[in-house]
Amino acid sequence: MSERKGIPFVDLVAPHLQLEDELVGTIRDVLRSGMLVGGPVVEQFEQEFAQYCDARYCVGVSSGTDALRFALMAVGIGTGDAVVTVANTFAATVEAILQAGARPCFVDINPATFNMSVEGLRSFLQNECERSGTSPAPVHRSSGRPIKAIVPVHLYGQMCDMDPIMALAAEYGLSVIEDSCQAHGAQYFSARENAWRKAGSIGKAAAFSFYPAKNLGAGGEAGAITTNDEALATHVRMLRDHGQNKKYHHLLEGYNGRIDALQAAILRVKLPHLEDWNEKRRLAAETYYQLLSDVDCAVAPSEPSWSRAVYHLYVIRVQRRDELQNFMLRRRISTGLHYPIPLHQQKAFEHLGYHEGALPATEAAASEILSLPMYPQIEPNQQSQVVDSLKQFFSVRSIPLSLP
Ligand SMILES: *Cc1c(COP(=O)(O)O)cnc(C)c1O
Repeated sequence: MSERKGIPFVDLVAPHLQLEDELVGTIRDVLRSGMLVGGPVVEQFEQEFAQYCDARYCVGVSSGTDALRFALMAVGIGTGDAVVTVANTFAATVEAILQAGARPCFVDINPATFNMSVEGLRSFLQNECERSGTSPAPVHRSSGRPIKAIVPVHLYGQMCDMDPIMALAAEYGLSVIEDSCQAHGAQYFSARENAWRKAGSIGKAAAFSFYPAKNLGAGGEAGAITTNDEALATHVRMLRDHGQNKKYHHLLEGYNGRIDALQAAILRVKLPHLEDWNEKRRLAAETYYQLLSDVDCAVAPSEPSWSRAVYHLYVIRVQRRDELQNFMLRRRISTGLHYPIPLHQQKAFEHLGYHEGALPATEAAASEILSLPMYPQIEPNQQSQVVDSLKQFFSVRSIPLSLP
């Protein structure tokens, strides 16, 4: 990519050019098969993605949002329940909880990883909930609702600290649904099991998105649920298909939430390249880390020793973020904000009753985070340009006005 064209935030063309012949061939095959929804291509993709995630089952659906909603419903979340999650995530996490009938309860993030704070989760369960009677389910004191599940979000491609989250879930009798929509292939070293575990293989179920910009993207909208629980997989298969277990036998009220065959076929072509693309993202992250090592005014993302992140996004922390973003844009460098307004401060979720100051680490991060250009094909010289512009911004602006 030439310097004149600037540096895009993502590159959704390069992976499709790389695989164009294969993609066009598979699309032709699906069209000629006449099986456009369901069928062998969908089943093959499901098997391959389950295997990739070290999970027993995978159920393809029409989006990551449906994957989250169906997974929550299938573990029994419904009207009147409450689910613990974070406010530093995409709106879909909270939409899925609300649309399953439950109330989202937010805990703060760890400012170093931007992911769910284990201390925040523990303190929420200990101090804001109470256990009554014989049921192990804690009741959220201010809403009176039973807490039924935790949705840890593996944000930016890095997994949450799952050992203590799973331990707390077991202690309180809660289901864990991993929001893995940004974490295809990310890994976590479980000290408890003395083994590396993949995103989507730890919780009761996990939700993946194949929105085109994700690390594994379809040619449109698609998603999947992974689980080791056969009954849950069967339940989710019915939810995506109008509650049918066979044609016109509706066992429950379901949805139209299937993945279509063209998306599954495109994903089958791209999946074998995911490891290579993730490795390239990790190398690009290493390059940014080196380039940023002598920049005092920017904090590079931290990757704990138990994490192998797949850098869906490369998010730094800076002061005067909005000014910097504009400065870079004038130099044709596109950046992103993930996310500028935490969900508890969004108009749509005002009714949950959270106020400013409720989640201090989440709120502080929202005004300081900046997502730098990140994709497998980004070149080191482009990354140098990105970091040079950042250095220029801070050095120009920090020259004291009193200098001669
Ligand atoms: C993308 C995303 C979703 C939703 O996925 P869609 O396929 O767009 O419905 C949910 N959660 C997170 C964290 C995401 O990044």
